[in-house]
Amino acid sequence: MSAPATYDVAIVGAGVIGAAVAWRASQRGLSVALVDDAPGHGASYAAAGMLAPVSEAAYGEEALLALCLESARRYEGFLAELASASGLAIPHQNAATLVVATDDDDLRALDRLHEYHRELGLSARPVTARECRRLEPLLSPRLRGGLAVDSDHVVDPRALVGALLAAGAAAGVRLVRQRARSLTTTAATTTTGIATATTVTGIGLDDGTELAATSVVLAAGAWSGRAAATGLLANLPEQARPPVRPVKGQVLRLKGPSGVMGLSRTVRGWVHGTHVYAVPYGDGRVVVGATSEERGFDTTVTAGATYELLRDALTLLPALGELEHVETVCRLRPGTPDNAPLLGPSSLPGLVLATGHYRSGVLLAPVTADAIADYLADGVLSGHLGAFSPQRFGAETALQAVP
Ligand SMILES: Cc1cc2nc3c(=O)[nH]c(=O)nc-3n(C[C@H](O)[C@H](O)[C@H](O)COP(=O)(O)OP(=O)(O)OC[C@H]3O[C@@H](n4cnc5c(N)ncnc54)[C@H](O)[C@@H]3O)c2cc1C
Repeated sequence: MSAPATYDVAIVGAGVIGAAVAWRASQRGLSVALVDDAPGHGASYAAAGMLAPVSEAAYGEEALLALCLESARRYEGFLAELASASGLAIPHQNAATLVVATDDDDLRALDRLHEYHRELGLSARPVTARECRRLEPLLSPRLRGGLAVDSDHVVDPRALVGALLAAGAAAGVRLVRQRARSLTTTAATTTTGIATATTVTGIGLDDGTELAATSVVLAAGAWSGRAAATGLLANLPEQARPPVRPVKGQVLRLKGPSGVMGLSRTVRGWVHGTHVYAVPYGDGRVVVGATSEERGFDTTVTAGATYELLRDALTLLPALGELEHVETVCRLRPGTPDNAPLLGPSSLPGLVLATGHYRSGVLLAPVTADAIADYLADGVLSGHLGAFSPQRFGAETALQAVP
């Protein structure tokens, strides 16, 4: 099939978000180009894959929690449809979470979290230290107590992105393996000679060509914002550059020698005030994470982070020390001022945002893809996305005049 002169949709970024939007938009009958020189190798490559809205619930983030719960509700159907459309297996499992505490202060933090769960009517139950060890015999005997969250799930994010790209290709998405150098724009002028809103009309590619599109979706993760040093957004007026910043995350990947580890739940722990988690994939692989660092675009894997993650993980689960250390990975989460994503039309005609998913992009992929594809196809943004408007910070105001 020959490429259209103007795509209905061109997407910058083939992480879990861009790839999911591409697949869903293409299912809606739109012609879609997906631009990325390293598909699936951004934050999505490092993600642990926890689908854990309840154990990750945080004070003051109730709108985000509602969105996360809605996306979690859709996940099973989303994965079933994706496996069938891609022909690929996507490892996932119900890995209930056990949140554990190692000292009195940690236990008080756990109590506060449970209190918050109760206020919101979320299902979680306190468990004694003894019960924790009965549920997960590999846990250290030196725990103070825990909280069991049975509704959480885990998916393998790398397999997920692979399946999304395959399903997109099968549905007609054109994957363009190039870096997007810039967003192309036009400036309209009124009859009185006053320049009005600028329109985004496509993507300028590294090879000097341009991809014309009716709508451009910015799904470039941590590179979607005004913090990015690249020229991608250089054509846009300052106030149109989304307030997205990189938040550095380092994780370790471990593997059991026999392929069986004996850990069935995700264990999240407070270890003397710091957080650590161990996520089992059910086949001997375990992800231990994660740091959260404000260091700009630095992606150095550090000895200190590797040490601290292992130290805290082994405090909770000493047996992890026997596993093979396969890799330490560092990637950048797309953070926003309120930790919630930017979803929907920007103030710039032609530019739609699907970015800023911070620590929950894997979890939020189904709800994001459905909503953005609906918007691209029908021009209507579903009501529950109102709280996530890209224009909610005020800085991204209606644009005037680019001379
Ligand atoms: C350590 C860690 C653990 C995490 N754990 C979880 C978890 O358990 N559960 C969860 O839900 N979330 C988790 N997250 C968060 C999640 O990974 C992100 O929210 C999600 O991956 C964001 O997806 P994205 O597609 O927006 O960005 P990314 O995955 O970063 O993808 C952006 C893509 O854009 C491309 N790109 C950038 N600039 C350009 C350009 N100019 N031209 C072309 N392409 C470009 C990049 O190559 C990249 O492929 C974790 C993140 C980290 C770092």
